[in-house]
Amino acid sequence: MEKIRLGKTNLMVSKLGFGGIPIQRDSEDEAVTVVKRCMELGINYIDTANAYTTSEEHIGKAISGQRDAVILATKSRGRTREELESHLQLSLKRLQVDFIDLYQFHNVSDLNTLDVILDPKGPMAVLENAKKQGKIKHIGITSHQIDTAKEAIKTDRFETLMFAFNFIACEPATELLPLAREHDVGFIAMKPLAGGRLENVKLAFKYLYQFPDVFPIPGIQKVQEIEEIVSLLDEPLALNEAEQNEIQHLRQELGNRFCRNCDYCQPCTAEIPISMVLFAPNIIKDVKREGLFGGMLAELMEKPSACTDCGECEERCPYKLPIRELMSEVVNLYEAEKRKYQ
Ligand code: SF4
Ligand code: SF4
Repeated sequence: MEKIRLGKTNLMVSKLGFGGIPIQRDSEDEAVTVVKRCMELGINYIDTANAYTTSEEHIGKAISGQRDAVILATKSRGRTREELESHLQLSLKRLQVDFIDLYQFHNVSDLNTLDVILDPKGPMAVLENAKKQGKIKHIGITSHQIDTAKEAIKTDRFETLMFAFNFIACEPATELLPLAREHDVGFIAMKPLAGGRLENVKLAFKYLYQFPDVFPIPGIQKVQEIEEIVSLLDEPLALNEAEQNEIQHLRQELGNRFCRNCDYCQPCTAEIPISMVLFAPNIIKDVKREGLFGGMLAELMEKPSACTDCGECEERCPYKLPIRELMSEVVNLYEAEKRKYQ
């Protein structure tokens, strides 16, 4: 697979990476099979996180004996020295490796947290020391909030930035990506399929490949998913006029009122899984009658009734979504679907 340079890390990564969130839902055998198949297909970049339950451990098993063939990236949500130290040790153990190529601060999405991790005696000092010891090779950051991501880039303390980027959540194209280029910070695009909201896989990847230095890492659960994406790379990647029109059409259809699945609105004081509720329309249109009346979807649709109208989620949403209104719309849609069968 063709390789691109990942900013100032100078790592040469396959133009498609592997995102390790979804393999948490796989059995160990399934997860190992998926990771091995990705490597066979020429993917040399594997991303995971301390927080992704079984992901690191299963990746460790999959790459056993092939450490040199992969660039390993993981991350920590730790915000103290002690957490960073213990998460790094745990990652090395679970992945069964002596070093990690890219270690990232996970979900730094407000300026206060950015200050905390950059404290001279805090988490960044732990990673810089680990870098000197050879336990990690590069330091990156992941974020869901554009202003925080910009400030992080400007510090010149991070070699990569991971941020959601796709043709619907396309805000990074205007300022964030140019700023990353200016600072030679590698740009890793998470959620290239908008967390499952974009069904046209071909269109989603063709859009991202209009930016030759953007490095997409789709989350993969099944072998068929990665095979489908890799097969697209053999085709011309320029967008034709019809595809550009389709992107415009889809953008208009979704407008700005769609959830990017970042979970920055959490914690909800009433423990409502907001992003799951807002994703439900994608499920409602596909489920059969029985799925509407019982099971997980029905349980999920009960949750918004616990909303206390505190409004805290809306203050935290970086996209300023009217979350309560959107949840009501989803529940109304669900009730309307149910009525069709009553
Ligand atoms: S407004 Fe409702 S959904 Fe939002 S945080 Fe408060 S209780 Fe949760
Ligand atoms: S509602 Fe806003 S903050 Fe919450 S997951 Fe969706 S986009 Fe993110």
